Amino acid sequence: MNICVIGTGYVGLVTGTCFAEMGNKVWCVDVDTEKIARLKSGILPIYEPGLKELVMKNVAEKRLAFSTQLEEGLKDAVVCFIAVGTPPGEDGSADVSYVLDAASNIGATMNKYLIVVNKSTVPVGTADKVKNIIKQQLTVRAQADLEFDVVSNPEFLKEGAAVADFMRPDRVVIGTDNVRTAELMKQLYEPFSRNQQPILIMDIKSAEITKYAANAMLATRISFMNEIARLCDKVGGDIANVRLGIGSDSRIGMQFLYAGSGYGGSCFPKDVKELVSTGCKNGIAMDVVSAVEAVNERQKYYLVDMVKKRFGEALNGRRFAIWGLAFKPQTDDMREAPSITIIKSLIDMGATIQAYDPEAIEQAKTVLGDYAASITYSKDMLEAIYNADALLVVTEWRQFRQPDFVEIKSKMNQPVIFDGRNQYRAEQMARLGFEYYCIGRSCYV
Ligand code: NAD
Repeated sequence: MNICVIGTGYVGLVTGTCFAEMGNKVWCVDVDTEKIARLKSGILPIYEPGLKELVMKNVAEKRLAFSTQLEEGLKDAVVCFIAVGTPPGEDGSADVSYVLDAASNIGATMNKYLIVVNKSTVPVGTADKVKNIIKQQLTVRAQADLEFDVVSNPEFLKEGAAVADFMRPDRVVIGTDNVRTAELMKQLYEPFSRNQQPILIMDIKSAEITKYAANAMLATRISFMNEIARLCDKVGGDIANVRLGIGSDSRIGMQFLYAGSGYGGSCFPKDVKELVSTGCKNGIAMDVVSAVEAVNERQKYYLVDMVKKRFGEALNGRRFAIWGLAFKPQTDDMREAPSITIIKSLIDMGATIQAYDPEAIEQAKTVLGDYAASITYSKDMLEAIYNADALLVVTEWRQFRQPDFVEIKSKMNQPVIFDGRNQYRAEQMARLGFEYYCIGRSCYV
């Protein structure tokens, strides 16, 4: 199939590349001329395990190409995916203007029947808006009888495992009111469902809501565990035991039951806020989802509170090492990362920071630009802890799991660790002579 993908971010580039890998011919189109120029010369705008190799291979085999020109992308396309950003607006609702711009460009450009598939995460009702905008553009061009379909096909991939998730999704959700289109979409996704993962055909609005409901449910599990972790710290329980205790119930399951420093990223925070906003606009109080967000905001300060309790509120002259900046491991994405809140708070209290992340330093430099004078970015994890008064583990990159604690202790000013991802065992840390604080395991009372 000939496919066009609009937007070459985490979702668009992965979608286009994976469809190309299955033998389709794909044009990836983006308005960002620099991004496209770099992609054409083999430089990827993002880090995702395995993506670069796949891009290079499919470009070399002429199934994948990049352009800034939608005409080029749509020339032979049967299906056009919209995979542009939907960032949070000021009031928390999703800004769908990029999606509508893309739709408008499609209407102004298409010359034959086209299936327009919305892969961006959009509030319920957006497919209707996309349909109307395309119709308007076709009418302006006196092409009102050109047929097209609009499909909702939300994406569930996780950053850090985007290629693997796209190649082996748990399910594919397709919202359409057209039987023929449903069949064609099924065909397109069949290579990705070889283990009988369901391809769920449903109405468009349910598909749009499904994406928000999925992210809000996952965010709920995180905030729930963070709340229980606080209780554990207060009364003397261990969140790891509680996790095993509740996760063994098959109705609950083990996944996504980790306490930590709060969720971040480009999806959970904005999608949770958007769901609250959609509920509000429709007179439905989203009390559970609102609480999920409030708990998460509070949780981002939990490590900071521990530092305050240990070192006091005036941190002038204190130097803290931060391991992990990205909002989660295996990505360079800094959007809404808890590290931002933690680092800014410590610097506001007078501290300086020595930070290390395997992939996210360049993005961190941009996001934390205003705080640059108080941050040193280290070339490796050991450099970061040199002369530090404490180490804060903020992102659970694998390489942080079993570090050489003896060497670490010898390099730090004081052997103090605040573990925002519960990576280490308290008994072992005590044996090694560390003062160790973590989340919900009664090390912080
Ligand atoms: P991104 O910001 O990484 O990339 C978006 C790209 O779209 C940018 O390169 C931008 O230049 C381009 N763009 C914007 N307007 C355009 C236009 N009119 N024409 C062509 N290109 C245009 O975004 P992302 O993280 O890939 O997310 C895209 C969508 O997918 C969002 O709605 C997001 O919520 C959703 N989503 C993201 C993830 C994720 O993990 N990142 C997972 C599932 C769903």
